Amino acid sequence: MFGKPCGRRSSSYLAIGCSAFFVGFFAQTVLAQDQASDFAGWAESCSDWDDWDKPGPPFNIFGNTYYVGTCGITAILITGDAGHVLIDGGTEAGADVIAANIQTLGFSLQDVKLLLHSHEHFDHVGGIAKLQQLTGASLLTSAEAAPVLRTGVAAESDPQAGMLEPFPGTRVDRIVAEYEVVQLGTLSLTPVATPGHTPGALTWQWLSCEAENCQSIVYADSLSPVSSDSYRFSDHPTYVDAYRAGLQKVAELDCSILLTPHPSASDMRQRLSSGEGLVQADGCRRYAEKISGSLDARIARETDD
Ligand SMILES: [Zn+2]
Repeated sequence: MFGKPCGRRSSSYLAIGCSAFFVGFFAQTVLAQDQASDFAGWAESCSDWDDWDKPGPPFNIFGNTYYVGTCGITAILITGDAGHVLIDGGTEAGADVIAANIQTLGFSLQDVKLLLHSHEHFDHVGGIAKLQQLTGASLLTSAEAAPVLRTGVAAESDPQAGMLEPFPGTRVDRIVAEYEVVQLGTLSLTPVATPGHTPGALTWQWLSCEAENCQSIVYADSLSPVSSDSYRFSDHPTYVDAYRAGLQKVAELDCSILLTPHPSASDMRQRLSSGEGLVQADGCRRYAEKISGSLDARIARETDD
């Protein structure tokens, strides 16, 4: 479908007799394949719970899904024939690392068409304004996260309100409702509302394939019960109900690769360096159970006080 076949290996051979488009296509594909074998590079460059802005090499997670974040903060690129989707933008400084990582993989920033988010805190969306400028992409947010993304100030209902750094606000192009599938060409990603860590947090689920082998990838939000000193989850029963419902949804998602906004929350480095890999049977269920335990413990402590 791309016209005259070209050689796979030699770039000088590629340059002869191929259309510019085809050379570009192959250069990008070969480069991406080189990166695919570079799981180990990220695991060696980064440590567990590493610095938020520390550069780490990008790598292929599976199929058209790439890790383009820093050592400490995840950002995910999902590529498609009608453009690419980027989930999360790191901190303001981390955005530069993410932009460079996308280009290192051979992808163009201008081909990023949609920006999505996990939860609306500065370590994950502080760099969105810069990335929106660099890419020209549209930003889609949950209804609850929209005012936070616009202003850069956390919601008053956020358990960590008052203790979070503000970040550059940006343009929100569209609100997405829960389970309203976001489509870009052949890409489709499903948002799941998972409030708890923040009111507007989203978990995303999509399918990535390598030939006939497809994996259901879940980018599950942090969901950890962290708050300011004065906040008590037990004072907000409706919020806790929605929190628990979100955890239940995560547990039940079709999920063969679990990714999280802080890579160490799902043991990414350990899974990459041990050779275990990122495909696992019940990662989402175990992740949700672990956090449910933390939430129970947190609420028990509050009622003991
Ligand atoms: Zn965070």
